[in-house]
Amino acid sequence: MRPLIATVDLAALRHNYSLARQCAPGRKAFAVVKADAYGHGARQVVAALSGVADGFAVCSLEEAVEIRAVDEQARILLLEGCFEASEYEAAAELRLDVAVQSPVHAQQLIAASLPRPLNVWMKLDSGMHRLGFTGEAVREWHPKLRQATQVGELNLMSHFACADERGHPLNDLQLEQFCSLSELAFDHRSMANSAAVLTLAAAHMDWLRPGIMLYGATPFSELSAEALGLKPVMTLTAGLIAIRDVPAGESVGYGAGWMAQRPSRIGTVSCGYADGYPRTAPSGTSVAIRGRRVPLAGRVSMDMLAVDLTDLPDAQLGDAVELWGAQVPVDELAQVCGTIGYELLTKVTRRVPRRYV
Ligand code: PLP
Repeated sequence: MRPLIATVDLAALRHNYSLARQCAPGRKAFAVVKADAYGHGARQVVAALSGVADGFAVCSLEEAVEIRAVDEQARILLLEGCFEASEYEAAAELRLDVAVQSPVHAQQLIAASLPRPLNVWMKLDSGMHRLGFTGEAVREWHPKLRQATQVGELNLMSHFACADERGHPLNDLQLEQFCSLSELAFDHRSMANSAAVLTLAAAHMDWLRPGIMLYGATPFSELSAEALGLKPVMTLTAGLIAIRDVPAGESVGYGAGWMAQRPSRIGTVSCGYADGYPRTAPSGTSVAIRGRRVPLAGRVSMDMLAVDLTDLPDAQLGDAVELWGAQVPVDELAQVCGTIGYELLTKVTRRVPRRYV
């Protein structure tokens, strides 16, 4: 087998979930497992959190179907909601909680003929301007949904645009918007993504919705996952599949993008951008071999990347190469590449086998 594997540490996942709960004692938490549990494998992640998590949150009906097959009993929230009456029927069959994100969608819900009432989360657009009712529309639709036979619990949710920037003025404004509806009776309220779980106690409400923190990555650019007490869940490990000496003045890789400044020892590693390693990673980006960091040399190719082993003379063919994990945090690589850990984790491709430990 090609030496490339994503190892998923399920004990670390459970640790991170309980950390989310400890941040907000007495509150419940939907584990956000959309996008195949941020690339970790939704079925395995849900099975590992089954009986531990209070519920799961997903993006689409298809994702909810996958989770319902693993956990018969779990509370599952559809974060983007449904788009037509037939989807509401399917959601009711699956016993989902659904976000309802606008008057149009509320109208579709109350026109649907459902086998049982749905728990509804009215989504308030508190300032992100992506999805959701205006405050005024929440006031208008609250009594109609309360009376609708299609509605079981009536809940309120919203989503932060800038919770990852502590002290950003929009955080307070969104919270104010949310709290300005306090005269309306809702069964439950939910506002907190990972960043708010970790640093914005006023937003904890009844139900948390942590995503990225469960996977041991940080939502903040200036606060590391380790400093937050999170444990990395995915380790992406490849192998050293070739080693060669390259004389000073010779180049390495596509575009001759790296030039040996001294007689160099170059290692070829079995992971490329078609596996999900970012092509934007520049020369100098760290990987870890034998507990030491070595730098990338030249451009990342589709199936391989090159590293400069000159300062690691004991490196040998077949050595394991950590591309991210406990030694090279995924957030560090993301920052070097001008992206976020979320993107790297969700972009590990299908040809990388996952191993669960
Ligand atoms: N809630 C909603 C509505 C989301 O869209 C997301 C993710 O984008 C989350 C919660 C989880 O966010 P995070 O991964 O930052 O914790």
